[in-house]
Amino acid sequence: MIPVSTSACQDQRQTEPGWQSILQHAVSDPVELCRRLALPLSDQEAITAACQLFPLRVPEPYLARIEMGNASDPLLLQVLPQAMELQEHAGFISDPLDEQAHNPVPGLVHKYASRVLLITTSLCAVHCRYCFRREFPYDDNRNSRLDWQQALDYVRTHQELNEVILSGGDPLSLPDRQLGWLMEQIAAIPHIRRLRIHSRLPVVIPQRITKECLAWLTGNRLQTIMVLHCNHPNEIDLAVSNAIKQLCKAGITVLNQSVLLAGINDHAPTLASLSERLFAAGALPYYLHALDRVRGSHHFAVQDGRGIQIHHELQALLPGFLVPRLVREEAGHHSKSWLV
Ligand code: SF4
Repeated sequence: MIPVSTSACQDQRQTEPGWQSILQHAVSDPVELCRRLALPLSDQEAITAACQLFPLRVPEPYLARIEMGNASDPLLLQVLPQAMELQEHAGFISDPLDEQAHNPVPGLVHKYASRVLLITTSLCAVHCRYCFRREFPYDDNRNSRLDWQQALDYVRTHQELNEVILSGGDPLSLPDRQLGWLMEQIAAIPHIRRLRIHSRLPVVIPQRITKECLAWLTGNRLQTIMVLHCNHPNEIDLAVSNAIKQLCKAGITVLNQSVLLAGINDHAPTLASLSERLFAAGALPYYLHALDRVRGSHHFAVQDGRGIQIHHELQALLPGFLVPRLVREEAGHHSKSWLV
């Protein structure tokens, strides 16, 4: 098993694999995953079919946080393909946020007035079974410099924009050199003030926060915000906590968004513990998303009424600044809808 570094910034010993190696060697076979966790693999045929629709992907540092022999582990349930993904349910569709209607040039989504989202890559370090982009047409949104030029030209000509969001896939799965170049291009556009990076990599492979990464994140005039995606307190071990602290120490604002997921975090004390651990490391809880109704994710859905009740219970457990806002993203709306 690959050891998890307790120091996130890259003072790793020679014997430890770098983040790119960890990314490359993520577990992608459900038989191997179950063997590693001492779990029986039931329903193998259906799980193989689910993997064909959206492959399994679990990197070693995340795998190391899953409890051996526990088929209900909240981290395992986020990544293990299930037969239930094959069931069709009314209202659960391939593009629940209608992003393809807001895709004016390859690699760019423009839904909200002041900000645009760049689809920088199709690659993620982990495959979250509830991901709303599990069927996103990444092949139509390639990330060569030529495609990025088209997206950057769009940003240059739209003076009403003040913020660019790097998304994906996971933008931090790209090499630092490529991201540094992109950052320079964005910083050279005078009307852009902020750069936001949506990433799950500091959570699933905390070794990703290297000196090189911090250098391009901070080496320009933009205000930089890192929005993590963490759903359960067990996802935050010492290495993740140190990675967040490194980002904060470098002057980056660190926020977190979670998805409310049945059987994983639909429990106020669990969410309270998540907020406490995030804040202890320096990250502020930002959004708690109602599930985006993507095909194959119905078994993760929490009814709105139950979500609102959990949120009320959460308010009773935490100071206001640690309570994430419960929101839903709806196709065609100009902002997120607040459920509470
Ligand atoms: S890391 Fe983000 S983009 Fe990638 S599968 Fe998970 S939710 Fe989807």
